[in-house]
This record gives sequence, structure tokens and C-alpha cells, in this order.
Amino acid sequence: MWSRRSRVQPPSITPMERVVMVIRNDPFAYPQSGSPAHGVPGKFPLNSSRSTQAKDNSVAIRPIVIHGNPVLHRPAAPVTEFNDELKELVADMYETMDASNGVGLAAPQIGVGLRIFTYKMENEDGVPPRGCIINPVLTLGKISTADPDPYEEEEGCLSFPGYGFPLKRAEWVTVNGLDEHGNPVHFEATGWFARCMQHETDHLDGKLYVNRLNKKWTGKMKKVVKKEGWTVDGNSWMPGVDPDPFGH
Ligand SMILES: [Zn+2]
Repeated sequence: MWSRRSRVQPPSITPMERVVMVIRNDPFAYPQSGSPAHGVPGKFPLNSSRSTQAKDNSVAIRPIVIHGNPVLHRPAAPVTEFNDELKELVADMYETMDASNGVGLAAPQIGVGLRIFTYKMENEDGVPPRGCIINPVLTLGKISTADPDPYEEEEGCLSFPGYGFPLKRAEWVTVNGLDEHGNPVHFEATGWFARCMQHETDHLDGKLYVNRLNKKWTGKMKKVVKKEGWTVDGNSWMPGVDPDPFGH
């Protein structure tokens, strides 16, 4: 998920994170992928293997797949094994979320059909501002049927890069799931944090936020899909290599 709010209310940064961010801003910090298509946003051949030429056991940024890729449009499978492979996947998801300046990332967005998401969002619910939820089950409050505010309720998605559309969400949710170590997680989320939980869990059910827009905004969204050619499989973009689609 991408959020305008993430720019208005940047999460607090520890000195260590600041150092990491400075390194990330160095264009030479990441090895270039071997794909000749790099530099052409949204037109990348899908690469499901680890994307950087990093050493084994190191963390990798992975390409983010775009609307039209089937993995985004079908339900993801529950995680059943908490092994090293899972830890590696989750580490890559954190890295990819950070490199894309996202506030949330679901596994299907990097082409992996498993029920996992990571998030990075300050909240007023006493929940750590950064975390991973596996096999989440949400209980939702009521969703208003009023028209959404085009600015205050606009969401964005890394898999629908460069665009934002408004929609109503439940103002609070309860979240039940597991963390990356297999420990139970349970909390209540409100406001934008609740919105983030709903957006990411939708991904695991094969739904993008653009599938929840009202009639007016659905019409506008469909024109974008057609214009961008996002009706087919195979489009993706590479955080840290391609220009940031949301202008960070
Ligand atoms: Zn999303």
C-alpha cells in the first residue's frame, strides 16, 4: 500500500535506519539486474527469481508485479511451515517495502501466492510501527456507504503504480494472525492503520483496492487499466532501479 499520509506523517527514524537510508539513496548501492529492459517502467519481463546479484543468504529487493498478473487476482495459500525459507522471504519483503517507500506489501505483490504481508505505519493502537502478519483473519467494523472523500480517503497501491483512488473502509478492525516466528498476534487497529490492514489482507484474498471503488471511480480506474495495458500478465517494476511511481 502507498499512502499520502505516509508523507504527511513520516514514521520516526532511528539513527541506524537513517544510516541504512543514506546507503539506499546511493544509486550504486544496488547491483543492477541483468534485464535489458531496466529503465522502462512497467514493461519488465517478470522475474520470479531473486532479483539482485546478492550473495546467498543476503536480503534482496524483488520486482513488484502490476495489476493484470494472475497472482494478484486469486486467493493466496495459507503459510504452513515456519522455516528458513519463510524467514528469507519475509526479510526480502521488508527490504522491498522499504525500497519502494510503501507502507505495506503483500507477498502476491512480489509474485508469491502466500498469506503474508509486511507493514510500516505509526499508529495510535499501541502496535509496533513495523511488522509482519501471516495468515491474517480480520473482523471489520461497519463500512459507510457515503461517497468517499477524494483526498482524505485516497489509497494507492504499489501494484497499481502512480495512481490513487478514494474508497470507504471500516474505521476499525481486529487482526488475528501469526508473526514471522509463528507466534500469535492479536490487536485492534483504527483509522489509517485499520485501512492498511484491510488493504493488505485484500491482497491475500486476490483483491486490489481498485476492485472496491464505487461506480464513478471504477469508470476512471478502468480507463487507466486500458491506457496502461494492465489487462495482461507480465508487467512489473523494480524498486530502487525504476523511478519511484509515487514521486518519493
Ligand atoms: Zn496494494
